[in-house]
Amino acid sequence: MFDIDKALDLWRSEALRRALRIQSTVLDASREFLRSQGFIEILPVVISSITDPLTDHRVRGEIECYGFKYQITKSMIFHKQIALLAHPRIFCFSPNVRIEAVDRQNSGKHLIEFVQLDLEIKEATRDEVIALGEALFGSIVLAVKQKSKEDLEFFGRQLDIPKSPFPRITYKEAEKQFGPDFEEKLSLSSTSPIWVLDFPIESREFYDREDEARPGILVDMDLIYPEGYGEALSGGEREYLLERICDRILKKGMKPEDFSPYLEIAKRGLYPSAGFGLGIERLTRYLCGLKRIDLTRLFAKLPGQLSL
Ligand code: ASP
Ligand code: MG
Repeated sequence: MFDIDKALDLWRSEALRRALRIQSTVLDASREFLRSQGFIEILPVVISSITDPLTDHRVRGEIECYGFKYQITKSMIFHKQIALLAHPRIFCFSPNVRIEAVDRQNSGKHLIEFVQLDLEIKEATRDEVIALGEALFGSIVLAVKQKSKEDLEFFGRQLDIPKSPFPRITYKEAEKQFGPDFEEKLSLSSTSPIWVLDFPIESREFYDREDEARPGILVDMDLIYPEGYGEALSGGEREYLLERICDRILKKGMKPEDFSPYLEIAKRGLYPSAGFGLGIERLTRYLCGLKRIDLTRLFAKLPGQLSL
């Protein structure tokens, strides 16, 4: 059952009020920075006939309208690529629903409904979005330090603006140093946000672009927070040519028909692009130095629990 008294305690707490103020500063600072870089904000898509397959989330949030099947958005990846037909630089605060396994309930990192700052740039390379990500992150931390000083003090949080360029490590090297599930160990061992590059093809979805010169390696990245806070964002360059997209879908053992509207658009021409999605609740957790992600937003939904 939904515990109303526990929720009321949280909603009335000083900690939540301060975390929400920091989050509000994050939203303002992101918008201001991205607009200064020529982006426009687009409105989120909540239901669609296509969404990110994210094959480790096996439960498909589906609803039926007028006899048609819609899926609840897991990410706006395909809509971001398509949106570039309308404008060359777009971002969105996109609500995503991913039905996570119950054993992630106390991970401190997983909510089944979260918001990501999702952006995409026409004809960009991975290095360009990495540079943009670093500048965006720096401007957010600066704004929070300036505008939410007292709130940071409340959490006892000292934040430094990390120096660019952030360190980089390849997936292969991270695996060699820290073992197969390296995210947490890498995060704990790092004092700066760190980029993980070049994910192996089997570890990601079909839309991250495979490097033609290095088959099996993707031109993509994650950003990992320091101090054990784990993943900040995922992104990369995208597949945009019909044939290559179909090939990747088939290699994943999926059916091209499940993505037919997207493939029809790719047939008529998508642009090359790169972008990323940055989780807002995880960013808030890092900035406030919180252990639990459900303390970073109102109406947080942890895996396996009934929530408001
Ligand atoms: N679609 C990715 C995700 O939601 C983000 C991205 O590649 O832009 O994890
Ligand atoms: Mg990710």
